[in-house]
Amino acid sequence: MALYVYKFGGTSVGSAERIQKVADKVKVAHDDGHQIVVVVSAMSGETNRLVELSKQMQQQPSAREMDVLLSTGEQVTMALLSMALQERGCPAQSYTGGQVRILTDDSHTKARIQEIDDTNLRTDLNSGKVAIVAGFQGVTESGHITTLGRGGSDTTAVALAAALKADECHIYTDVDGVYTTDPRIEPKARRLEQITFEEMLEMASLGSKVLQIRAVEFAGKYNVALRVLSSFAEGNGTLITYDEESTMENPLISGIAHNRDEAKLTINGVPDLPGIASRILAPIADENIEIDMIIQNISSDGNTDFTFTVHRNDYEKASKVLEKIKNELGAKAVTGDDKIVKVSIVGVGMRSHAGIASTMFKALADENINIEMISTSEIKISVVVNEKYLELAVRTLHAAFELDKVVL
Ligand code: ADP
Ligand code: ASP
Ligand code: MG
Repeated sequence: MALYVYKFGGTSVGSAERIQKVADKVKVAHDDGHQIVVVVSAMSGETNRLVELSKQMQQQPSAREMDVLLSTGEQVTMALLSMALQERGCPAQSYTGGQVRILTDDSHTKARIQEIDDTNLRTDLNSGKVAIVAGFQGVTESGHITTLGRGGSDTTAVALAAALKADECHIYTDVDGVYTTDPRIEPKARRLEQITFEEMLEMASLGSKVLQIRAVEFAGKYNVALRVLSSFAEGNGTLITYDEESTMENPLISGIAHNRDEAKLTINGVPDLPGIASRILAPIADENIEIDMIIQNISSDGNTDFTFTVHRNDYEKASKVLEKIKNELGAKAVTGDDKIVKVSIVGVGMRSHAGIASTMFKALADENINIEMISTSEIKISVVVNEKYLELAVRTLHAAFELDKVVL
């Protein structure tokens, strides 16, 4: 008998029929004698629908009220799944994040889990019930509902698996594993049998939405056996593993990630003096805007252009901050572009290989794709390109590094 945490994403619970299918699947595991905790997302499209509704009320609703609103999506699914299981003669009970007591900090809309009280879930499991938990939500010490950021149900599942010391955490979704790149962009993408935590973390942080980054962090930190599988088809999916050596495939590049949520801003012609970067970026940080890539060039005339990227949602806010400080910094102009994307190649194998960057840049150049920014680390290279090139860039790099071929 094993203890499993199963998480079902939005598409997997996207209709009454699909919830029934999930109930069938959970019942099979329960009938086999396993202890099962199920984490559910909101039905597909529901969280977006709620975001749109909020915009009709207020331009910038408070983060606290957004959490009250967005957490309702998961509450619908958890109750429906519980009913479907009970209908099948499988004892089940549903819990909101607050009812479990998934305690978070109070950073509304991007809260972090601090502690999980597993008493209720343990009691249920020991009495033979399936426990169903609303993903994506928690509660603060003082009882306010919080959410964990978009895609946060993955994190709920992994955090519960860690707290309960589950044998495995299964993330059931609408693809049958982690691929060399988003299979919706490159149909030749190949499913990976295994991927290391380090690579998965990099892929997730560079925009691969198949797993939320916090979920991968949790899994790595608490040694959770994590697998991504299809809700709709049988198969082994992809195992996220520690072991770099045991991965049969050990290519230079494991995958290509992309992120559409990007925008870049430039403050032109700023006097190139010590402290300039901090004077530009401190007011941006004060507005709670996260910065990703940064480029500053040394100039010949004593002035410099300073460029950085932010989340596309923060573009307007960041532009306003720069406009405000422009004169005080003695800058000439503020320019920006919110039609950019980031495309990245990821692989622990590139650590020990030179020439990866030039292969990447040549492949893009051969397709006439202009690179606007570059950033590198030991195991990734990212480029910023115009959004119209996203699909072409992903496919070009997939082909250039022969990711459709199995490397043994
Ligand atoms: P869920 O609602 O189940 O959480 P998501 O939409 O959040 O599902 O994540 C699954 C999606 O992630 C897939 O449909 C796929 O388009 C996308 N995706 C992006 N990169 C990858 C990748 N490397 N491998 C697999 N899927 C990916
Ligand atoms: N429903 C939330 C979202 O759409 C959380 C999740 O599905 O993981 O972001
Ligand atoms: Mg998701």
